[in-house]
Amino acid sequence: MVDVIDITKPIFADVEVNRACNANCVYCPVSVTKKRKNEVMSLEEYENILQRLLQHEIAGITFNSYNEPLIDPLLKNRISLVRKLGIKNKLILFSNGILLNEDIINFVNDTDFLNITFNLPSIHEKEWEVLLGVDKRFHKKTLENIDNFIETQEYINFNISVHGESTTLTRRTQEIEQYYSPFENVVVRQVFSHNRAGSINNDYVLQPNHNVKKTGGCDWWDKETRLFNHLLISYKSKILLCSHDFHQKHEIGDLKKHSIEEILLSEKSIDIRNQIYGKKTLDKNLICNNCFFLR
Ligand code: SF4
Repeated sequence: MVDVIDITKPIFADVEVNRACNANCVYCPVSVTKKRKNEVMSLEEYENILQRLLQHEIAGITFNSYNEPLIDPLLKNRISLVRKLGIKNKLILFSNGILLNEDIINFVNDTDFLNITFNLPSIHEKEWEVLLGVDKRFHKKTLENIDNFIETQEYINFNISVHGESTTLTRRTQEIEQYYSPFENVVVRQVFSHNRAGSINNDYVLQPNHNVKKTGGCDWWDKETRLFNHLLISYKSKILLCSHDFHQKHEIGDLKKHSIEEILLSEKSIDIRNQIYGKKTLDKNLICNNCFFLR
């Protein structure tokens, strides 16, 4: 069991700036969920969240947790706002790259991003189509977009994430490593895909094999961070349980009304923390019961 859990110190925050995706990755809950309307967080709400995050030593602020940030009509306005607030090298972009264009590529500057990660499951057109759930005619252009970005912005740290559990994962990763080997600013990562606390169940994601009796926490991010050190903030400005709460079942508090500290020290948040870290019985309705990372 963990002795000291300082949940009042957020280190990373995933901010859901928009609510829809232009892909259907077989390893993502988006692919097994009814198409959602692209609700977009207003700039005022985004600024409020940034101001609240600035009260803490935040290392990274991600556009979205699921969904595609390049379909956010306010994306450039958000980056401008981040610059206006003096936030440097903290934004993190996760994208499938399909909608990248010259306009965005030329807009980005060297202090905007901590890193940019592209979700690229395969270098092959047909395989990409199956894994990303996007028509293969977009494959060539997407690779060109990503390559163009990487070549133009050589000062940015790029990651390529290769997802989707299957016998092909290692081969796909090696091929992508080979493809990007000429680029010094690119790291290719094989990322394991899991069931997102019960939100998706198929052959491309790992399922938990534990039998939850007494819990000792969760370590989905890394060994140093605890629950709420990494925040998930919904497009409605709500702090949610964690980034695996795809269906937004567990709202912890409202950033339109309260500070991060007030929310993380609330009775509700302490109660959930006590359940996950084994001081109380886990509520049977908590998504954690189906989570790969529960210990
Ligand atoms: S145990 Fe719960 S809080 Fe921890 S990673 Fe899993 S779903 Fe998130």
